Amino acid sequence: MRILILGGGIGGLCTAIALRKQGFEVDVLEQSSDLHSSVHGVGIIQPMNALRALEVIGCVEECLAVGYSTQAWGKMLDADGNVIRQIPGARIPGSDLPPMNGITRPKLHEILTEKTLAAGAAIHYGTTIRQIRQDSSGVEVVPVPATRYGRDEPSRDRGGLVDGEIDGSSEHYDIVVGADGTYSMVRDYVKGPGVEPTYNGQASFRVNVPRQIPGQMEIDGIILQYTPRGMAGFVPLGPDLAYMFFGKEWDRSVRPAPDELADVLRAALEGYGGLTAAVRDNYLTDSRAIVFRPLDWLIAPPPWHRGRVVLIGDAAHAFLPHLGQGAAQAIEDGIVLAECLATYDDLEAAFGRYVDRRYERCRLVIQACVDISLWERGELEDFDNVAVTQQIIETLVQPI
Ligand SMILES: Cc1cc2nc3c(=O)[nH]c(=O)nc-3n(C[C@H](O)[C@H](O)[C@H](O)COP(=O)(O)OP(=O)(O)OC[C@H]3O[C@@H](n4cnc5c(N)ncnc54)[C@H](O)[C@@H]3O)c2cc1C
Repeated sequence: MRILILGGGIGGLCTAIALRKQGFEVDVLEQSSDLHSSVHGVGIIQPMNALRALEVIGCVEECLAVGYSTQAWGKMLDADGNVIRQIPGARIPGSDLPPMNGITRPKLHEILTEKTLAAGAAIHYGTTIRQIRQDSSGVEVVPVPATRYGRDEPSRDRGGLVDGEIDGSSEHYDIVVGADGTYSMVRDYVKGPGVEPTYNGQASFRVNVPRQIPGQMEIDGIILQYTPRGMAGFVPLGPDLAYMFFGKEWDRSVRPAPDELADVLRAALEGYGGLTAAVRDNYLTDSRAIVFRPLDWLIAPPPWHRGRVVLIGDAAHAFLPHLGQGAAQAIEDGIVLAECLATYDDLEAAFGRYVDRRYERCRLVIQACVDISLWERGELEDFDNVAVTQQIIETLVQPI
């Protein structure tokens, strides 16, 4: 079968590798002009289940080699910087994989891109589709040059996908995979209007910092530091590098000017001691180094396909970052989808089995992330975020 993947993010690239391993022919269309322009320079948490999935598609060794593997998930500090809880995390049973690896997004994208090309898939940058038509024999699409939008902005506008009309030079595929992220236009085509992301009332700031900050504890796992003003966190990314995230309640209509981000973040971190205070006072000078993003979540109700067009990754389920699981689940999607397509001749059966294996797992984690974000904003009393995190981790190490 010839398969088109729309979107060359983490999910799209991993799905391409998984499909190639099952012998399918794969083209990836990515709206960004090259591999680096679609990703921010900050880091990403690769939990144990992401590492297991990356092992299946032959990418884990490279990630572990350039990232920072931890011995435990991490710990939680009070506002002054004292350790108050340990979060042990878990390992995949019967495996040597660590509980977590931190890696920069550009390095991860380089690894996945190289593996995608080596697996024999083609990646076409600066390209999208505008028209689509499908029948029992396949899907016709018209590839067109993409207009470049911001990395975290909706791409769907702008007309979205025109259904049923083909007036350009078209390409024929057996299946189209929508891997076009949270603001997916393929989702509109599959699910119709109305399946929209929900804003959770928080925004995230991210910035790279040294892994060892003078006079502070070493960042050797995920370190969370909570106050009612927001949740600060630290993730090791390499021997010398880590990144800090800060999630806080935020009015979505307010978009800080790019050159004000350092001032806004420093002010938001008032009242913290310890590690967060050390970063606030010494490392937040360059606004251009800070990535700001309001946080949306979504889980599309099944089915995740319409005829021969199917959704994976954030296009089907956009996670809040609170458990570091969005990309992990996108990678798992790709592997399960490829397995189902290789197992069933009938596409309805393959897509049905795919969503059966994926929906409940994603729903569970998304609900936990929403609960943690509510607790952070003081809306869930007697909620134990550490216990919930550990419980979800122990669920996710089980086979899919
Ligand atoms: C603040 C924050 C922190 C996070 N931290 C973590 C973490 O630590 N660990 C983790 O596992 N996950 C994390 N995530 C989630 C993770 O980044 C996403 O779940 C993951 O990137 C989803 O991958 P994807 O390929 O489905 O979508 P995306 O990464 O959004 O990729 C979609 C791709 O499709 C392209 N595209 C979009 N529209 C079109 C179009 N019309 N035509 C062609 N191409 C198109 C885009 O340019 C993009 O390259 C975090 C998310 C946020 C917001």
